[in-house]
Amino acid sequence: MNSTSTGAFSSEVDTGSREENATKQRTGAIERSNRIGDRSSPIVRAIDVCKRFGNFDALKHVNLEVDAGEVVCIIGPSGSGKSTLLRCINQLEQIDGGAIWVNAELIGYRREGTKLYHLTDAEIARQRQCVGMVFQRFNLFPHFTALANVTEGPVQVLGEPLKQAQARGRALLAQVGLADKENAYPSELSGGQQQRVAIARGLAMRPEIMLFDEPTSALDPELVGDVLSVMKDLATSGMTMVVVTHELGFAREVADRIVFMDQGEIIEVGLARDLLSSPRQKRTQDFISAVRA
Ligand code: ADP
Ligand code: MG
Repeated sequence: MNSTSTGAFSSEVDTGSREENATKQRTGAIERSNRIGDRSSPIVRAIDVCKRFGNFDALKHVNLEVDAGEVVCIIGPSGSGKSTLLRCINQLEQIDGGAIWVNAELIGYRREGTKLYHLTDAEIARQRQCVGMVFQRFNLFPHFTALANVTEGPVQVLGEPLKQAQARGRALLAQVGLADKENAYPSELSGGQQQRVAIARGLAMRPEIMLFDEPTSALDPELVGDVLSVMKDLATSGMTMVVVTHELGFAREVADRIVFMDQGEIIEVGLARDLLSSPRQKRTQDFISAVRA
């Protein structure tokens, strides 16, 4: 039984406690989304999302929508909440306020009548399958070959027959330029090759969206290009992507929109070219100048 009520949907609570405020805010976010309705159905809709670590506000009322097929790059200084936002979308972190939908499904909660209930771990695991994530560090299984890393999820989680998962795994390794590396172990691959295996592994789960958290920032400079090129192909193929990156050239070329975050807030969102060439906010201008310097 993991069905803890998070409070009445139209509750009148107003005593100022953190949980009550969170409930109110979450309710407000859901009502706002209901008003927006289904005239658009983005892959990600985040409304009024707040995340705290102790007394520190890592995300402050963040609103973001990502449409199907769209590529959104998130830029911003270290500590501005970029990773936290991705981790909330992927339910690696629980949000403290607001609400997030992935593929039109409210994540983390089930609504029954006027109440919200926490989803069970199994339900959260099912929701997370829609979301592929690639981290700065590749997190491959060191004792598995490249192919086994890619087939593990489909076989163990999706229940795909091994032969079928292997055939698809080989195709995905070919797609990331590693057709000849299926039997290599991570220790036998360069950082860039490991990251490309990690991308293939994410794709193997047939996600609706891929999230990338600084996928090239741990790589030697000469290995960055191959990984960005795989991501660019993926974007061209129509995959919905959210990419946290400091690679402004990549963002300009591949992103539809760029989001600039600072201190837990989205400061500015714009079409890639506009935001990079003529940012409106001073903080965005300063950041872009500093990265380019
Ligand atoms: P970014 O990815 O933009 O560099 P993060 O999202 O990682 O920033 O972090 C935002 C802020 O939240 C930072 O100040 C960071 O120290 C803090 N933070 C992130 N994760 C945790 C955590 N698990 N516990 C405490 N503070 C955290
Ligand atoms: Mg980060």
